[in-house]
Amino acid sequence: MNKNQLKKLKEAILKKERLVFDTLSQKQTKEMVTFNNAYKNFLDRSKTEREAAEQIIAAAGKKGFVDIDSFSGKTTAKPGQKIYKVFHNRCVGLAVLGKEDPAGGTHIIASHIDSPRLDLKQNPFYEDLDMGLIKTHYYGGIRKYHWLAIPLALHGTVITGSNKKIDITIGEDPDDPVFTITDLLPHLAGKTESDKKIPDLFVGEKLNLVAGSMPLGDKTEKDRFKLHLLHLIHERYGLTEEDFVSAEIEAVPAEKARDVGLDRSMIGAYGQDDRICAYTSLQALLDAESPRKTALALFFDKEEIGSEGSCGAKSNFLEDFMSDLLLVSGQSADNRFLRKALINSRCLSADVNAAMDPDYKEVHEPMNAARLGYGICITKFTGVRGKSGSNDASAEFVGKIRHIFNKNKIVWQTGELGKIDEGGGGTVAKFLAEFGMNVLDCGPAILSMHSPFEVSSKADVYMTYLGYKAFYEDTAG
Ligand code: MN
Ligand code: MN
Repeated sequence: MNKNQLKKLKEAILKKERLVFDTLSQKQTKEMVTFNNAYKNFLDRSKTEREAAEQIIAAAGKKGFVDIDSFSGKTTAKPGQKIYKVFHNRCVGLAVLGKEDPAGGTHIIASHIDSPRLDLKQNPFYEDLDMGLIKTHYYGGIRKYHWLAIPLALHGTVITGSNKKIDITIGEDPDDPVFTITDLLPHLAGKTESDKKIPDLFVGEKLNLVAGSMPLGDKTEKDRFKLHLLHLIHERYGLTEEDFVSAEIEAVPAEKARDVGLDRSMIGAYGQDDRICAYTSLQALLDAESPRKTALALFFDKEEIGSEGSCGAKSNFLEDFMSDLLLVSGQSADNRFLRKALINSRCLSADVNAAMDPDYKEVHEPMNAARLGYGICITKFTGVRGKSGSNDASAEFVGKIRHIFNKNKIVWQTGELGKIDEGGGGTVAKFLAEFGMNVLDCGPAILSMHSPFEVSSKADVYMTYLGYKAFYEDTAG
């Protein structure tokens, strides 16, 4: 074979990896920057699942989406109708009715809007060594030391004794105070830490927020530092100590999303797992042109603790939403039709994968690990050990998505979460697959996942949006 023939052969049979930046036109590069500025704004306003749900509904409302409950038994929805459903303020479904019956199947993109964090305990306030302190209980998989010695903000909702709902945000306004968890100084860490393993070094019960050091009342007063905290909270919000029993307050990093790198090519922010997929799928649905199949975007809570509860992917939310959609579009929502709508649907489980880290290459298998900047990542399987706990998508469905992406010039790559037996993880994919539908994990790869400052590539964010949009707009069989 001569050189020219070899070149042609290689062109024809070898798989190509493409860096998104090598493929973008000038116009696309501009669009990428604009898209990511809006994404940063979304992240800053969505530091909890409730806040993300509010932002999603507000964005959908502006585009003409209406609450499914406003149809109240009417069967008036026509193709193109935009509908939303919110559940317990923490889980959202959006739908654009397609030209075909939903019973013939829908196109679903499912992400999650909860992120690892520190929740306040139900009895959080105490004092020690003349300081006011707040106890937390971590939520999701964290490396505890990430949360030490950084500014933290409190976000959440409290239900008062008289059943009033009070939303709390402290630490986001530049004039607001913040909270912090102290760390041991290196000068004194040697002896305490020398023979300890990481789990013994960083202890959950030591993740306590420093919240004050000024007393209320004179020396004769008992617990006057704790009292001062509660007094200030009462002044600002009218809350009592017992109110925190019926509360969901989350300590989250107080920083805003920032550009990372001299070239501003990346975004560093808290909560990108998985609001990066929530935002890109939201925008893809809002921008999708009159889809043939009904297009759904689902935003679940509780993924980080196993998709449990009434708002997690294991709940009945999707079945409920789907039967409502069948009813309002004038079709039977009998069990059989509902099952068919679910079985015939196609789903992208929109979640992040781990990008290969230059400092920790040893945990990845480089031929199959995802890389930052190489586009939206298809993850055929997740799980641990021998793919345990994984959905493991079918060749047919991976082929379908690959075809959609190639046809629409989407830059994509494949990913595997770490070397075999190195560790592992899961997503909502397997819970949705239980309905019988085809599901594939698909989203961007990020660095420092589950840390207070996760790093994504702006090119990947933009390509993920384009990939999701192509999925919704797909017109093939
Ligand atoms: Mn995730
Ligand atoms: Mn996660």
